[in-house]
Amino acid sequence: MHHKARTFAVTALAAALLLAGPPALAAPAPPSPGAPGIGDPFWPTAGNGGYRVERQRLSFDFAPDLSSYTATSRLSLRATQSLSRFDLDLLGPQVRSVAVEGKPAAWRTTPDGELVITPARPVRDGTRFTVAVTVFNTAPDLLANPPEKPEDLVNGLWRAGDYVQLHTQPTGARRVLAVSDHPSAKAPTTTEITTSGAATSVANGRLLATTTAGGRTTRVFDEPRPIATELLQVGVGPITVTHRRGPGGIDLRYALPTDESAAILPRLDETYRTAIEFLGQRLGPFPGRVAGAYATPTGGATETQGLTWLNSDQLTPENFDRNGADSVIAHELAHEWFGNSVSPALWGDLWLNEGHAVFYEWLWGEAHHGNALDASARSAYRSHRSWLTENGPVAAPDPASFGPGDNRPFGSGAYQGGALTLYALRQQVGDGTFQRIERAWVAENHDKVAGTGQFIATASRVAGQDLGPFLRSWLYASGTLPPMPGHPEWEVGPAS
Ligand SMILES: [Zn+2]
Repeated sequence: MHHKARTFAVTALAAALLLAGPPALAAPAPPSPGAPGIGDPFWPTAGNGGYRVERQRLSFDFAPDLSSYTATSRLSLRATQSLSRFDLDLLGPQVRSVAVEGKPAAWRTTPDGELVITPARPVRDGTRFTVAVTVFNTAPDLLANPPEKPEDLVNGLWRAGDYVQLHTQPTGARRVLAVSDHPSAKAPTTTEITTSGAATSVANGRLLATTTAGGRTTRVFDEPRPIATELLQVGVGPITVTHRRGPGGIDLRYALPTDESAAILPRLDETYRTAIEFLGQRLGPFPGRVAGAYATPTGGATETQGLTWLNSDQLTPENFDRNGADSVIAHELAHEWFGNSVSPALWGDLWLNEGHAVFYEWLWGEAHHGNALDASARSAYRSHRSWLTENGPVAAPDPASFGPGDNRPFGSGAYQGGALTLYALRQQVGDGTFQRIERAWVAENHDKVAGTGQFIATASRVAGQDLGPFLRSWLYASGTLPPMPGHPEWEVGPAS
């Protein structure tokens, strides 16, 4: 700013202050209800307004046959407004008690998954306060009582045979216990699990303590890094937990079915080590202190933080290669950087999770299976038009485009469309600059929440050029795609 201009600006400011008079003491805003959600287009009432979640302690007490449980959520919150009442997210479990600052509070539930809590006294803006909610829920055995239609299988706590597992991604945590169920509300989490008899339990983070009394065992796990409710894992079953020292000194922990543990462990451990080192060479240190897997016979493939949920049948020596288990593991481990450490601001930013996970899965396929990166990208490019018409642009998927049985917003646009955008960026700026962008992204947003606009800004700053128009042409394209840099001969296939 030029010197003369600054003099003028100061004079103008002084005049404005004189006109305005001395600043009055602002009257505190009267207490008002916190918003029922953060307004995410996919689930407007997911998450909550009026406070931040600073810590959560989640306690589970299972019946001996695992057919039901009592769960208590103790959340440490900080008010961002004066609150006459506020919400948590809860859908299904029966409320047993609600307390704010240790005192019973009035509450009601709504059909769209809100637990509306009215404390005995309003909460002042800026203050820390605690809420404790105890719920009871049944856990029917999915194997004995499978849902009639696949879309009736809702995310949440699954009991299958002897195993309990969480599949909360994206909004199933509210079906398990009271939480603020949006990735932008992630917080450090302690998980306490009480079981009977010989069942072993496991959860995100390190095991802090095990106590046994009267045939009941309580294990306490702690993850000091923030963790999104979609990435929680609580496992109970006939499992054996094996600890190993991993690359960079991190803890590797494998919770496997006891009768298969010895067979599964060698290849699983080798793959985890190789994949963590492979990803670390490109992205920098592993973002946490604990990595590993909880594998069950009915497991899926979900990046539950520090404890990937896997299917044990796909990890046996006979099936490991046939099922491409190493690529699944590389994909889920990539999420530890993309999705777990750097969490999406909105569910429409899901391409930042899944696009990256697929892109690094492609790189893994090139290094370990001889599948050229160009060939993976070209195949995705050819079929991309049908994805665009299906769910809308890569970074702006349309919630209305997903059917009731779809696990929205997990569409091909976020996965292959996101990976294709990253490939195009790499083509545009070269691999060296691309790697610097990726490293800056995961380092600067470590354990934070970030969205598409921030990725574009980081890419532009690191590359030293405005990549906004280029990246937006990929991320917000609808109906057709830009030409692939360096591959003008590539063609987009017809819409399906
Ligand atoms: Zn994924």
